[in-house]
Amino acid sequence: MDVQLYNVGPRIPEELKFLETLSNNIWWCWHPLAIELFVRINPNLWRELSGNAKEFLRTVPQSRLEELAHDPTYRRHLRTVQAEFERVSPKSENEKDRSIAYFSLEFGIHESIRIFSGGLGVLAGDHLKAASDLSLPLVAVGLLYRQGYFTQVLDRNGWQIEHYPVSEIHNLPLERGLDKNGKEVTISIRLIDRELFAAVWVLWVGNVPLLLLDTEIPENPPDLREVSWRLYGGDKRMRLHQELLLGIGGFKALIAMGYDPSVCHMNEGHAGFLSLARIAHLVNDLGYDPNVALEAVWRSNVFTTHTPVPAGNEVFDIGMLRPYLNVFAAEAHLDVNRVIRWGIPINDRNHASEMSMTVFGLRLADYSNGVSKLHGEVARDMWKNLWPQRSVSEIPIKHITNGVHIASWVSNRLWGLYERYLTPKWAHNPPVDQLIEGINTLPDEELWMAHELCRQSLVRRARRLLQSNVRYLSDRSKVKVDKTKNTLSPDILTIGFARRFATYKRGTLLLRNPDRLIALLKDKTRPIQFIFAGKAHPADDEGKKLIQELVQFAENHGVQDRLVFLENYDIGMARSLTQGVDVWLNTPRRPQEASGTSGMKAAINGVINCSILDGWWAEGYNGENGWAIEGNDYYTEDEDRDNYESQQLFNLLENDIIPCFYERSGGDLPQRWIKRMKASIVTGLGEFSSERMVEEYNRFFYEPAAASYRKLTADDAAFAKELVAEKERLVENFDGGKLYIERPAVEGDLADLHVGDKFKVSTRVYLAGLKPEEVEVEAYFGTVNAHNEIITSGAEKMELAETLDDNNYRYSCELTCRVSGRFGLTARIKAAGHEWDNSVPGFMCWPR
Ligand SMILES: *Cc1c(COP(=O)(O)O)cnc(C)c1O
Repeated sequence: MDVQLYNVGPRIPEELKFLETLSNNIWWCWHPLAIELFVRINPNLWRELSGNAKEFLRTVPQSRLEELAHDPTYRRHLRTVQAEFERVSPKSENEKDRSIAYFSLEFGIHESIRIFSGGLGVLAGDHLKAASDLSLPLVAVGLLYRQGYFTQVLDRNGWQIEHYPVSEIHNLPLERGLDKNGKEVTISIRLIDRELFAAVWVLWVGNVPLLLLDTEIPENPPDLREVSWRLYGGDKRMRLHQELLLGIGGFKALIAMGYDPSVCHMNEGHAGFLSLARIAHLVNDLGYDPNVALEAVWRSNVFTTHTPVPAGNEVFDIGMLRPYLNVFAAEAHLDVNRVIRWGIPINDRNHASEMSMTVFGLRLADYSNGVSKLHGEVARDMWKNLWPQRSVSEIPIKHITNGVHIASWVSNRLWGLYERYLTPKWAHNPPVDQLIEGINTLPDEELWMAHELCRQSLVRRARRLLQSNVRYLSDRSKVKVDKTKNTLSPDILTIGFARRFATYKRGTLLLRNPDRLIALLKDKTRPIQFIFAGKAHPADDEGKKLIQELVQFAENHGVQDRLVFLENYDIGMARSLTQGVDVWLNTPRRPQEASGTSGMKAAINGVINCSILDGWWAEGYNGENGWAIEGNDYYTEDEDRDNYESQQLFNLLENDIIPCFYERSGGDLPQRWIKRMKASIVTGLGEFSSERMVEEYNRFFYEPAAASYRKLTADDAAFAKELVAEKERLVENFDGGKLYIERPAVEGDLADLHVGDKFKVSTRVYLAGLKPEEVEVEAYFGTVNAHNEIITSGAEKMELAETLDDNNYRYSCELTCRVSGRFGLTARIKAAGHEWDNSVPGFMCWPR
């Protein structure tokens, strides 16, 4: 049936018109006063609609709006929010001067916008919010999923079932992206012999525009409309279509809307194809030579890798990929085989059947990073094959530790306290000593009371959710519905575990010691309870089994009131949990958790982390702000390690955590506990905010990359051209194996040295076709391991001492013994300057 659609909403009274503006920018979601403005209209409806502001305004009764239009306190409230909104989100005339473009396959901004699945997306959402707070000139690009990630319910057996409800996009704060003539932008990319079209929408995140591509449009045949339906749904080809759309279509959308970014940030390998679009743009629209364009592009790209887990590092079968890349390589005037090789480590060149998006990203980004200190180390080791001439410590992958957007995750109750007692900048990456000063003035009692209220709200929410669960709705369990009234206690030690149910996260670690667990759950004097939540990937039956084990364990042992599983973990639930539990538990198999961010959300709410020293906790834990589950990396069998670590966890619970919580010697307050809460808050606010993170991206990556792009493209790309010419010479001499460096000779006796001694090193080099000013010669030394491999390396520049015949030279330097130890010494030639430090595989020559 062909029906015509029409909507009727209430007429927003003139006095309240700003509510409409507010509902069209998700800015409201991290401003408590703005949220309150909606809540005041109708709290129940607001909750029912999960805080979807536009839908809410379409649904509230006209009479209620009329009433508030004449309520002076409401109007004052509205004016306050409006003033703040207008102060911080000005639309500048230079709107299109945004130098940084941030690409991600998912964004977790608010639970009402279902275009994310988990941590990666939430991180991207927090990145945008912080960029807005910092007024960075950033524009973001993603996909508009009509169905998003799945909605989770459990059947009566505790088995996960996935639903894909369709988002009503008219209820989302979206507007169509316009080109400079005011026309709605639709872009297209070629998929072999077909054209994929996408409408471009804009979602404002404060003053940051997020462009979202949408393939559900009449221009596409039915199968191609599905491209932007589901996040991580569909097969490998679907995924490829999505990534081509994101990278290539996304860049085209930017250009079509009049943006001209200098820096492109790939949040994970998913966005890697953007490099091809950038090169094509420079070649076709600005007349660059493809090699010159390549220099300008890779030297101004940023790449972030997010996981050491193989499944998270995407690969595509080259057979499937090639026909697609034929088109895009041709558009960029590049040889397709060369493009494919960019995604293959050198040592696999000859037998690779897959191209890695992580390798592709690393090779095409001068700036790359892992997401915690530990993950930086893991990533350097994991990808060292891309730079076969270097030691692990010199692999050019940095780390920028993740952070969370404070204003989005701190509870209202603590917000009030922080405003009163902490430095005014508490939500904006303040110095730690200022935080400590403030937190010491915060009365224990106030903090504890605020936290207990958060726990009570969580318990109320959990009960409400459980009542609607299928598991509790079957006939025979009418009783159970009533029982949810007494499920969980608002007053006892509450431990939360909510994350994706992937096996390495070990959601069932506690079940390894059922007796110890049951004893803790049934303890009458010092009771504890657990709240679990999290989705398993739809294709991951192992993960689904873990969820089922938890649910069945609770039922089989009659502890459903103390161990619950909440369905459909999302941003709203994450907020309640990380604000309301007492302990946040994290049990990954180290070092597979690259960072994790939920523990940071917990910390800023005074929730205490109890975690394996993995990801962010490996650098966040300081002995006073939580607990570290003693891990052991040396077990070869997961089984043994899991057993050991679960025993450690129980020891902690029984000997430290539970006694600490229930120790009330000084009146009603658990004083030692509160001390830890305060330390946890200081760590969270002081070190793990997304403002700190985005400032680091800006300082270490965006600003230098933008400067680099300006330099490369100035004067008709003179500098980029120079680099292309230099690269040719370097490739010919370094890769051709023409250079030669002799094992360095040492004056004196290496066997008997003491701290403070100096010795002279010299070597002879043959520079083939290169000139001395094109290279640097270095003495390379450092402590060695048992295999005589240099592990901590240092390099000292050697000076040209003598020019010999036939482009041979003698270089020398003096080394000082600064510390004691067993050292190794050698020497190397590398390309001069820092221009080639991060190139893959780079230019370096060692003694043969
Ligand atoms: C914060 C968050 C995550 C990421 O947390 P991890 O610590 O990485 O598990 C995942 N999902 C949601 C909904 C979140 O809010």
